[in-house]
Amino acid sequence: MYIISIFVYKYKYMKFFTSFGFWSKKVGAKELETNMVFGKADLGYFVVLMVISLFYVVQNSPGKSVQQLEDAVKTMNLYEERLKMNLHSSRTAGEGTERERERLLMAIEERIIGFLYRIPDYSYMGSLETYLKYRPNLLAQFPAAVPLGKGDYSISSNYGRRIHPISENEKKHYGIDLAAPAGTKVHATASGTVKEVVYSKKGYGTYIVMRHRFGFETLYGHLEKVLVYKGETIAQHQIIGTVGDTGSSTGYHLHYEILKNKKKIDPRPSFELKMKIYDELFLSNSGTKGVE
Ligand SMILES: [Zn+2]
Repeated sequence: MYIISIFVYKYKYMKFFTSFGFWSKKVGAKELETNMVFGKADLGYFVVLMVISLFYVVQNSPGKSVQQLEDAVKTMNLYEERLKMNLHSSRTAGEGTERERERLLMAIEERIIGFLYRIPDYSYMGSLETYLKYRPNLLAQFPAAVPLGKGDYSISSNYGRRIHPISENEKKHYGIDLAAPAGTKVHATASGTVKEVVYSKKGYGTYIVMRHRFGFETLYGHLEKVLVYKGETIAQHQIIGTVGDTGSSTGYHLHYEILKNKKKIDPRPSFELKMKIYDELFLSNSGTKGVE
């Protein structure tokens, strides 16, 4: 394929460009004349070019990437099984299984990282749960917690379709609304950097956008106070602002969004993720201690 295209390129590129009017602006009056010499050879080149473009379109088509994602999920599930088996045998066996587990974890590390970048939302996290138990520090690097303290809030609107409270039009709500008293502390749900701090009278009002690892971003809207600056490095759970009702808001609440690879996704499954893994970790650790 490439050899053909290089060959054709070498001998026909002049004719090709002129025939498509690429140089028409420069050659001016020659345009008509050159357009008429579009012959068999040019057609051949055109066909080759179309085949190459088609090849790239197929390579990068959504169908192909869905297939790649499915394959990656299958692979991850296999690793998950191996880790689970190792976890079970470690209860009875000793250091050998621990060494084997470390080797396994090292071997799959890079694939897991790649997988975390690729997945479109939280529905794929299930394949990583056992892995995350061994690498819980990863749960600090992408949104895996609630942005408000326990008992500080109630969910007033979920992600999905709803009637907008002000415009009364039905539209998609791209985040979760957490009703809370004015001044309630807002925590970063993952470590990362502050991408944007915006003070607006409309929309999200005063809001912060944070950038995290693996293609995640979070947005905290309708804030009263902002306690961070653009470009600042933030730790997970660090206080970044306070709950307000700036912008188009009908009461004190935090509008919270998660973006994954530039697309807004449902943040709900992220809320209990860290707690769930840590709870299970605690249970399994206290379990083994009991046996010993
Ligand atoms: Zn909202």
